[in-house]
Amino acid sequence: MYCPFCGHVETKVTDSRLAAEGEQIRRRRECLSCGERFTTFESAELVMPQIVKADGTREPFDQAKLRSGMQKALEKRPVGNEGIDAALAHIGHKLRSLGEREVPSRLLGELVMEELRHLDEVAYVRFASVYRSFQDVAAFHEEILKLQQGRGASTLNQLSFLEGSGDANLVKKKP
Ligand SMILES: [Zn+2]
Repeated sequence: MYCPFCGHVETKVTDSRLAAEGEQIRRRRECLSCGERFTTFESAELVMPQIVKADGTREPFDQAKLRSGMQKALEKRPVGNEGIDAALAHIGHKLRSLGEREVPSRLLGELVMEELRHLDEVAYVRFASVYRSFQDVAAFHEEILKLQQGRGASTLNQLSFLEGSGDANLVKKKP
């Protein structure tokens, strides 16, 4: 490809490695004219199922949208882009391996929650509270209790903001 900085036609690869659990190749390139360095990612383009939304409409699987949704849930959490890339790779793999032409958006949501639960419990609860629109406060507490029993006090401390007045928007949406 042309250098994105100066448009020169020749670049050389200075480093090449697998990324996203082997589903991508990441290459560092250097422009032979201006000397700028940049990164390219190469991945196979495979057919993903269409996503069927709750209202019955279809839309193509949109990885960028999924990524931004996960990033929002992971805001200010100690999870890097590599973690998100790996999670997206898992989700993509699972969707393709279903061999279906269409899958309900609910299933996609469940796959995201499964990945977030492994990545970061706080992000998981954030996402789940919005996605599932918890029916009532009891259901939400039940979810937090489950996490608390599994891990320890530190998670609960990090979650306490959800019940305070400051960032409680996520929880208080439903009366
Ligand atoms: Zn250049």
